[in-house]
Amino acid sequence: MALEFIGCPRYIYFGPQAHRRVAEIMDTIGVRGTVLLLSGSSKTKKIGGMVGDVLRGEGFDVVDLEVPSGVIGAREVCSLYEKVRNKGISIVLGVGGGRVIDASKVIAAWKGVEYISVPTSASHDGIASPSISFLLRKSISESLGPEKAVTRSPIGIIADTEIIKNAPPITLISGCGDLIAKYTAVRDWKLASVLKDEPFSEYSASIALLSARLITDHAPEIKPSLEESCRIVVKALIGSGIAISVAGSSRPASGSEHLFSHAIDYLSLKEGFKPAPHGIQCGLGTIMMSYLQGGEWEFIRQKLRELGAPVTAEEANLSPKIIIKALTICHTIRNRYTILGDSGLTENAAYKLALKTGVIEKEP
Ligand code: ZN
Repeated sequence: MALEFIGCPRYIYFGPQAHRRVAEIMDTIGVRGTVLLLSGSSKTKKIGGMVGDVLRGEGFDVVDLEVPSGVIGAREVCSLYEKVRNKGISIVLGVGGGRVIDASKVIAAWKGVEYISVPTSASHDGIASPSISFLLRKSISESLGPEKAVTRSPIGIIADTEIIKNAPPITLISGCGDLIAKYTAVRDWKLASVLKDEPFSEYSASIALLSARLITDHAPEIKPSLEESCRIVVKALIGSGIAISVAGSSRPASGSEHLFSHAIDYLSLKEGFKPAPHGIQCGLGTIMMSYLQGGEWEFIRQKLRELGAPVTAEEANLSPKIIIKALTICHTIRNRYTILGDSGLTENAAYKLALKTGVIEKEP
């Protein structure tokens, strides 16, 4: 039997005012010295400032670093890293959404220190997982080598539900879409284990499915402005992050529905349009991939509706043309076996799938 390693987050704080506990976590971990605090350029900068004040008040040295707005790739992360390359840093704190937490993961890995994730929204499971976004990983792997894109799980997560509650409503809905995606992701994983002999972890798959079920069970009550809803979604996202940590790969959390979302992101860069949030695209992908898998796609669609998530291209502000294009190329996006098989969908099959599931109304 092969040796297994599981690296999971150790300290998880969530609830109102959780950000005030940041110094307490540092003490528990035994970290002193200089904290590198990354935050965004607008809203999250203010929240980063609040967290920085708590740390300074407790005697920590804090180095602030602002992640610029827009898509981040290898170039952006390298220029951030250059600013702290020669600085002694004890730990990295990422205060923000996906981009900031991704940049924190990479910089912590390059500096050889731990990081704490302080999400300001609950939009995807990257807040708790070792993985970084598909486009960033691709950009780093291609320009610096795949070993430079290897990142770990956060040692701590501080999810202040009062902060998350005030994030734009679409972020929480997107988090729900990213979680519902686990239904199709786990089925794809099982398929790959049967057809391609990929290692499959029953334990990890169960945690991922449990996280998805938490959302579908509570779908009618989940409302972005409610603290209780934020708690449910954050718990489920942390569950998904742990499933990824246990598997040692994003397999339990990311299947053909994620390939579909990655394909849209890829096309958005190539063709210059604005993609929908990650979890929104994954939600649409889950409806269609569930149909292909012979799963309960109507149930998925219904639950997304109850959550107020887009279930059509139009509601997601995506053109039907892009949906079809993404469906036909998504099997090529990464080397991951799914229901799409090795050759993917033909254009006609893609039309039929999108029409049948109501994602598009008529052929573009
Ligand atoms: Zn995801």
